[in-house]
Amino acid sequence: MSDQRIYNFAAGPSMLPLSALERAGSEITNYRGSGMSVMEMSHRSKVFMDIFQETQDKLRRLMGVPEGYHILFLQTGASGQFSAIPLNLIGKTGRADYAVTGNFSSLACKEAQKYGQINLAADTGDRNHCYIPRQSELKLDPDASYFYYCSNNTIYGTEWDYVPETGNVPLVCDMSSDILSMPVDVSKYGIIYAGAQKNMSPAGLTVVIIKDGLAGHELPFTPLMMNYQTMIDKDSMYNTPPCWCIYMLGLTLDWVEENGGTAGMERLKWQRANMLYETLEQSKLFQLHAEKDSRSGMNVTFRAGSDELDAKFVREAAEAGFVNLKGHRKVGGMRASIYNAMPVEGVEKLCEFIRTFEKRN
Ligand SMILES: *Cc1c(COP(=O)(O)O)cnc(C)c1O
Repeated sequence: MSDQRIYNFAAGPSMLPLSALERAGSEITNYRGSGMSVMEMSHRSKVFMDIFQETQDKLRRLMGVPEGYHILFLQTGASGQFSAIPLNLIGKTGRADYAVTGNFSSLACKEAQKYGQINLAADTGDRNHCYIPRQSELKLDPDASYFYYCSNNTIYGTEWDYVPETGNVPLVCDMSSDILSMPVDVSKYGIIYAGAQKNMSPAGLTVVIIKDGLAGHELPFTPLMMNYQTMIDKDSMYNTPPCWCIYMLGLTLDWVEENGGTAGMERLKWQRANMLYETLEQSKLFQLHAEKDSRSGMNVTFRAGSDELDAKFVREAAEAGFVNLKGHRKVGGMRASIYNAMPVEGVEKLCEFIRTFEKRN
């Protein structure tokens, strides 16, 4: 099974750890003697409740989620949180700060404008989101109900290398594409959330880590299913949670733990990314999109100089076993998404391919 797998550089859904997939495969018709698949279980059964609890505990341990924070397993998609966040939090002062550094923070900002007065704390659209603003450049509103940012810009290939300082204003962060790729001091945040399909699990699960006290002040018309307090009160089980994805998250977390936890993931992340950035920097053919001090360790965006060469690169790479390297249309060129589960070897081989492609062209 494993020897037929190829290096999949997709932005998401993306590669999952082979050990997690194989474990799921071996348990798919009969989960540990229960006589049924996790897909077939009642979410209220003891056997599933144990999976749920263990997964939540593992995530709490691996991310160092302190007491006083809830971990929610929701189905909204990361995009659903673009609405849930203002609905639940903006009522405090009617205002919020947004740092727009890419596509998803821009969408989140537009959505929030329906519910309150939004201050653009930063907007990197002036240079097609090729950089991350520095702390001194952030325009902060001291009366904001929260400060919103996206730690890794999946489409543009930039990543914040610091946690913004916002005084008493709670930090809200979309970590969809870099969660579990480095240790995070959760106590600095009000909310961390992530769609699971990049670094955690199949699509269908959204993890929300929320500090006690932030929920319960939602706008009166907040839909029931978007109300954090409902989900906190019912431990994410107001309705059927995404059971299979929660189980798969547990298996991914086992793999993270076996590979040194989030610190181990961070070492691997920069081992992969630095290798690729160095190869591209040494090249005379390829150019990087992101500025050097803003580069993402998860999504590497680059171009070969012309649309024809870009297309040729993507085509020939796929033939050589490196798939889904076409960049997003907003940036063009190529994007190599190298999330946690991408083996270092996959990036080594891609670097070799890049060097030979350059020689031939
Ligand atoms: C992929 C992605 C999203 C969108 O996730 P959905 O689950 O498809 O809504 C949002 N934010 C970031 C940073 C992403 O990478």
